[in-house]
Amino acid sequence: MIEQSIEAIVEACNGVIINKGNMDTVNKISTDTRTIEAGSMFIPLIGENFDGHMFIEDAIKNGSSSVLIQEGKLENISISKDITIIQVKDTLEALMNIGRYYRNLFNIPFIGVTGSVGKTTTKDLISGVLSGKYNVHKNIGNFNNQIGLPMTLLNLENHHQISVLEMGMSSYGEILDLVNIVNPKIGVITNIGVSHIEHFGSKENIMKAKMEIATNLVKGNYLLVNGDDEHLKNIDKTNKDYEVIFYGLSSSNDFYPTKVEDLGEGGSNFTVDIEGKPITFKIKQLGLHNVYNGLAAVWIGLKYNMTVEEIQRGLDNFEPSKMRLEVIEKNNMKIINDAYNASPDSMKAALDVLQTMKAPRKIAVLGNMFEMGSFAEEGHRSVGEYLAKKKIDILITVGEMADWIGLEAKEHGLDERKIFSVPSNMEAINILEKHINENDAILVKGSRGMTMEEIVRFLQERR
Ligand code: ATP
Ligand code: MG
Repeated sequence: MIEQSIEAIVEACNGVIINKGNMDTVNKISTDTRTIEAGSMFIPLIGENFDGHMFIEDAIKNGSSSVLIQEGKLENISISKDITIIQVKDTLEALMNIGRYYRNLFNIPFIGVTGSVGKTTTKDLISGVLSGKYNVHKNIGNFNNQIGLPMTLLNLENHHQISVLEMGMSSYGEILDLVNIVNPKIGVITNIGVSHIEHFGSKENIMKAKMEIATNLVKGNYLLVNGDDEHLKNIDKTNKDYEVIFYGLSSSNDFYPTKVEDLGEGGSNFTVDIEGKPITFKIKQLGLHNVYNGLAAVWIGLKYNMTVEEIQRGLDNFEPSKMRLEVIEKNNMKIINDAYNASPDSMKAALDVLQTMKAPRKIAVLGNMFEMGSFAEEGHRSVGEYLAKKKIDILITVGEMADWIGLEAKEHGLDERKIFSVPSNMEAINILEKHINENDAILVKGSRGMTMEEIVRFLQERR
């Protein structure tokens, strides 16, 4: 963060100075006492389980020289005279306002990425491509919400030339809040799936919420959407100030590959026409779904005047994030670690990838998918049906909801002797211990709460 004066921060967050301390400036803003440094400002957030105001004293001990305090919270806290105290109505709102103020110090293009699945991967691929020519700013990992996004913006420095930001949501208005902070020039929507459907009731409603990303787009801006998606393809291109660009595999899109070559474990090659010439790009990321993500990234690279060589360099340099279809080779065994998270769409994509693995036997270890509310049974069963059409030698389901995957797979013809449904990772490990061979390909995937990396660790460390 570039050092800011206390006055500027006070103005940005509509705060009132309750006490003026020793320092006139802020060189870092933190919501976590463990990352405080000398000269930091601490912003205490109020969460479901904790109230950050309880940690103000720790923050000061760790070097914080200024703190925000939410109205009504000051009574219970004693703070020495050297510390600047700024009172605000709401600390989360203040953080967002400070993020917006700080973002506006930078006259560079911002790109916002949302969608039900593939946001992080697409954001990383776009920034990977752009880094073939530019100094790119992006969110670290999955910092994509009303806290993570402003915190990400505070990492902007003078050398950054372009910023690519993932925007997540679990209810209406959340993307709008983020868009109002960032004002992206390009909005990307990867797809409309069923993540967070419990809050929305239908995919149509999810689509409405995602479309908030286009709210502030003006003439000369772009909405870049997956045109193969059954909902997104219906976006009306006319009567809009900004331009809608459809990307996807089918030739009805504005940007599509004339040829796709699935290289299995090597990723994919895809060819697009650029100024009438066929140009082939190679991506290391596995699975056809990553061709979509790659198309969005290449389109943006071209938009920002990159040469084909620069774009390919960006694609080459980019390393996929951990635990997202990460292939780990252990002797002759191939472990696909996709334990970061799961939804029905991404599970099906991962099963496709498992199919392309060169291995005599294929094993799927699939855990519960959370946050699906009343759609949970249908969602899990749809994965079971999909899986039954693939060649899977052993299916291990972990957790109560994942049982539905096994039940549906059986109903669609998967031999029940190949199906094991267990309640915990430990028991899945016991089954693997008994059944795996040296050269199996094993997919491990489930929602974040299932911590299925425990199973990956077992496979990696096993002798
Ligand atoms: P989150 O909501 O957790 O932030 P996300 O939208 O950022 O998720 P990623 O973390 O990029 O999504 O990917 C989640 C899973 O979806 C991974 O298993 C990944 O392989 C798979 N995936 C990535 N892109 C796509 C896509 N375009 N379509 C379907 N699945 C995808
Ligand atoms: Mg993400």
